[in-house]
Amino acid sequence: MSMRTPQVEPDPTLPPEITIYEVGARDGLQNEKTVVPADVKAEFIRRLAAAGLVTIETTSFVNPQWVPQLADAAEVLTLLGDEGRGPRRPVLVPNERGLDRALEAGVGAVAIFGSATETFARKNLNRTVDESIDMFAPVVERAREAGLWVRAYISMCFGDPWEGPVPVEQVARVAERLMELGCDQLSIGDTIGVATSGHVTRLLEALGHKQIGVERIGVHFHDTYGQALSNTLVALRHGVTVVDSSAGGLGGCPYAESATGNLATEDLVWAMTGAGVRTGVDLESLLSTSAWMAAQLGRPSPSAVVRALTPAAD
Ligand code: MG
Repeated sequence: MSMRTPQVEPDPTLPPEITIYEVGARDGLQNEKTVVPADVKAEFIRRLAAAGLVTIETTSFVNPQWVPQLADAAEVLTLLGDEGRGPRRPVLVPNERGLDRALEAGVGAVAIFGSATETFARKNLNRTVDESIDMFAPVVERAREAGLWVRAYISMCFGDPWEGPVPVEQVARVAERLMELGCDQLSIGDTIGVATSGHVTRLLEALGHKQIGVERIGVHFHDTYGQALSNTLVALRHGVTVVDSSAGGLGGCPYAESATGNLATEDLVWAMTGAGVRTGVDLESLLSTSAWMAAQLGRPSPSAVVRALTPAAD
C-alpha cells in the first residue's frame, strides 16, 4: 500500500497555521518553455482556489516582449472576473506602465520585483539598485493611493550567479528601502536555490535589525539544490508564516539547467500536514490540478510528492 497522507505528529516548534502564497500561475508559468493559452491559465487559477489556496499570484504586467508566456495578462483577468481580483490575487508590475495596465484590469493587489545585487538589477531591470528603487517609488505610492495591497520581492538574497555570495547586510539595506516605500509584505527570494539553514537565520536577524519583523516577511525558496523545504522550516521556526510555493513545482530554475526551481506546493503541504500545521489546502485536489497542468505542459512535475503519489504521470 502507499500512504497518500502523512501520519500526523504535531511539531510544537512550528506555527499552528501558515499562509501559502501560490506562485505557480505567475512565477511558475513565466519560467516554463511552453506557452499556455489564457483559458487554461484561468482554469488553473480556479482549480488552485478550489483546492484551498487562498493567496494566488495570477499573472504579470511585464512587457510582453520580455515575457511572452504572460503576454495575455489582461485576458486571463477578464476570463477570471471577480475570481481574479481582490487583495488575495496579486499581479506582478515591473513599473508604472505595468501598474497602469493592472489598474485598468481592476486588480486589488500588486507585487514589485527588486534585486539584492547590482548585476541582477542591471540584467533584469536595466538599472542600478538605486535607480530601480527610484522607479518603484511612484509605483508603490500610486498603488497605495488606489487602495491596493503591495508586496515587494527581492531576488538573489542568498547568492547571485554572477556575483557569488551576497552579504546579508546588503540584502537588508535593499529590503529596508523597499519597505520604506510603503510595501505591506516583503518576499525574500533564493532565486538560484543555494541558501542553507544558518544563512536563512542570519538574513532574518538582519531584517529584524532593520525593523522588518517576521509578520511582514514571506520566504521564497527554490529547490535547485534540494534545500527549499529545510530552509522553509528554519524560517517558520524563526516566526515567519508566509511561504511562497508553486503547484507541482512549476517553473524550473531560471538561471540553471535544472528542472527543479520553486518549492512545490505539494511538498510544502505534505510537510505541514504531517507536522499538524494548517494550510487549508486539500492535497488530493491540488495533485489532480498539478497532474492536469503537467499534461498541458507535456512534462512531468519535478515535485517529489507529486511523483510519489502520481506514478502514472511519469
Ligand atoms: Mg521563484
